[in-house]
Amino acid sequence: MTRRIVILGGGTGGTLAANRLQRALAGECEITVVDRDDAHVYQPGLLFVPFGLAHQEDLVRSRRRQLHDGITYRDCGVDHVDVEANRVHLAGGAELEYDVLVVATGARLVPEETEGLTGAGWMSKVFSFYDLEGATALAGALRDFEGGRVVVNVVDMPIKCPVAPLEFCFLADWYFQERGIRDQVQLTYVTPLDGAFTKPVASRELARMLQEKGIELVTEFNTGEVDGAAGKLISFDEREVEFDLAVVVPAHGGAECVERSWGLGDALGFVPTDEHTLQSKVRGNVFVIGDAAAIPVSKAGSVTHFEGEVLVRNVVRYLAGEELDASFDGHTNCFIESGFGKAVLIDFNYDTEPLPGHYPSAVGLPLLKESRLNHLGKLMFGWLYWHSLLPGRDLPGVSTAMPLAGKRFELR
Ligand SMILES: Cc1cc2nc3c(=O)[nH]c(=O)nc-3n(C[C@H](O)[C@H](O)[C@H](O)COP(=O)(O)OP(=O)(O)OC[C@H]3O[C@@H](n4cnc5c(N)ncnc54)[C@H](O)[C@@H]3O)c2cc1C
Repeated sequence: MTRRIVILGGGTGGTLAANRLQRALAGECEITVVDRDDAHVYQPGLLFVPFGLAHQEDLVRSRRRQLHDGITYRDCGVDHVDVEANRVHLAGGAELEYDVLVVATGARLVPEETEGLTGAGWMSKVFSFYDLEGATALAGALRDFEGGRVVVNVVDMPIKCPVAPLEFCFLADWYFQERGIRDQVQLTYVTPLDGAFTKPVASRELARMLQEKGIELVTEFNTGEVDGAAGKLISFDEREVEFDLAVVVPAHGGAECVERSWGLGDALGFVPTDEHTLQSKVRGNVFVIGDAAAIPVSKAGSVTHFEGEVLVRNVVRYLAGEELDASFDGHTNCFIESGFGKAVLIDFNYDTEPLPGHYPSAVGLPLLKESRLNHLGKLMFGWLYWHSLLPGRDLPGVSTAMPLAGKRFELR
């Protein structure tokens, strides 16, 4: 009997999982991907939009056209999942039965959860570059900005791509220098973390870079309110940071359809998942890929890509009644754009924090160090995303497991 695999979400994880599954199981399974529109956004490109370095038309392609022949695409919202009955309820009332469900519904921005954030000043002096609309509006505001206090604020963790707000700071420093007004702009990075980043070695290096570029770092600031009219961020412990222009990364939650599915999500709407097999803890026939998973990794496209191989192997093994592969190691890889045509690369996993050295081996891209080569790597990633990562191909020389070769452990 032909088995049915339903994939919720046609973003990074849903697309690459569908294409890999189609290759592994062609003819044995019917694969259906569901998403609510046909516009796949290359989210890493959003960082460049405010600085006029990328535009909407460079970043958006048809979701359907990223899927291999033989995969069914349903352009429809998901209302909820009945995990007891193995059934997905679509918006409008249609239903999809499944043997295996892959949840790839990502993370959702919830700016309305922060008092005042979407109130006075929203989209005129308070912006987010985390979606196309915000990134495009911010491009106009930055163009018109003639000087004053620019604040980049992360409201709460977890967020997608935790290095993106730091990259924004570095690019803003470059951008205002290019425009010849850097001395009239005070740049401040405001984070709830106790340092520039979560992991100690990378946090020290990134804090040093902020300092070198004249960007003030405010830590342990838990934003309770954004007062756009008065131009200030107010923390829960009543500290204040003043701004003329605020670039805010709103809090994130899981997809609403996960929240509406009884027994599927946790309190934040993410799906409890085994961090090594990517099988959900909810039901044996539910697997999770990408930002939707409640596992201790960064919410990043690179992680989603590395998860793909293990997830697909485990769906195949589950259908064959075999033991699952528990080899996903939390591998994460981030290019951090640092301005002036350079970038820093970090590579880490559950057990190993970002360390200096080279990637993917002793000869390769420099780790934790600004370099032109890393910037070219970041630019190339855009091409690889559409032509290799989404089609579900392995990247040459890039393994799913984090490589140890090339890393310098003595500096920990
Ligand atoms: C500004 C920014 C910069 C980034 N930079 C990088 C970077 O440099 N490197 C990197 O590795 N990662 C980066 N990321 C993160 C990366 O884009 C995400 O981690 C990745 O896209 C996660 O893939 P996903 O499939 O889990 O989620 P997504 O790709 O977001 O896909 C989720 C899909 O689920 C669909 N969906 C949700 N709810 C429903 C519903 N009810 N019905 C139907 N469909 C639904 C959505 O429409 C969406 O298409 C960045 C993200 C942002 C925002």
